[in-house]
Amino acid sequence: MTNKLALSVQDLSVRFPVRTGAFGQTIKLLSAVDNVTFSLPSGESLGLVGESGCGKTTLAMAIAGLGPITQGHVEIGGESYSDAAARRNRALRRKVQVVFQDSASSLNPRMTIGEIVGEPLRVHRVGTRRERASRVETLLEQVGLRGDYGPHYPHELSGGQRQRVGLARALALDPGLIVADEPVSALDVSVKAQIINLLADLRARDKRSFLVISHDFSIIEYLCDQVAVMYLGKIVEKGPVKDVLLDPQHPYTRSLIAAVPSPRPDEAGTAASSFGELPSPLDPPSGCRFHPRCAVAVEKCSKLEPPLAKKSPKRVAACHLLGGAGMHGATLFD
Ligand code: SF4
Repeated sequence: MTNKLALSVQDLSVRFPVRTGAFGQTIKLLSAVDNVTFSLPSGESLGLVGESGCGKTTLAMAIAGLGPITQGHVEIGGESYSDAAARRNRALRRKVQVVFQDSASSLNPRMTIGEIVGEPLRVHRVGTRRERASRVETLLEQVGLRGDYGPHYPHELSGGQRQRVGLARALALDPGLIVADEPVSALDVSVKAQIINLLADLRARDKRSFLVISHDFSIIEYLCDQVAVMYLGKIVEKGPVKDVLLDPQHPYTRSLIAAVPSPRPDEAGTAASSFGELPSPLDPPSGCRFHPRCAVAVEKCSKLEPPLAKKSPKRVAACHLLGGAGMHGATLFD
């Protein structure tokens, strides 16, 4: 039996016009997300991993209806939300909610915690006032806050508590998909672990789908079934998170995993230092976009872009040195 899809993304691109040159006289198109295709079965979680500036947050915001789509389309829970009017539709808000990285700026400082968590219920006219108040208490308890936090304001809470409030608000409309954008990167180490455990508990309890954006493989490993690795606006590898971590196929994925800081100080940072700078997405390299940084590049890498190719039924990667058939049936190998 085929699993229902929580999310399907088809040939999605996001491009922004950017002024360049000494006087800003030239307009160039910045390709933040380039022809991205993937799907996520209901109840599963996908991690989007990559360096800052690789396009993962732009992709996530486009999926959540909070950012533009230049081309392609997004289906959430079986319904298409690609056209601008549909993406502003309230129905989309009931299907996908976002937990932001910076809880301090994503919560309205003039609203109480109770008002913040209850606002989606009020806007969508869910229940009576009394029922909404009771639901807010339940939501706060679900994220590990007592119901009596309701009358307090965001500035009275710690960073971890505010992130719990953001999560309670995201859960209010019971969405099938939650997009968590670097959900713990602004938190202290000790609080990080608590929020990661809370996300894992919520995932296991409700069988809800999560799209987790992070530059940290360990968070993706803990929270996700699948991982998609992004490089300069493109997915270069995708597969079950454990398989990708154990046996990364794409040279970029290997570099990312090797650059994860080691607990042993003598090993830390050696891979990262040989990794180099991310090229500008305004002027991406020809052929394989990773070729200027790739230690195993061959001649055709700078000329020909490798397609995402199936490595096994569940894994795809885009590299000329890997075997298999392209996603659209083309054979990769010479
Ligand atoms: Fe490296 Fe070439 Fe593979 Fe790109 S296609 S990752 S440059 S070997």
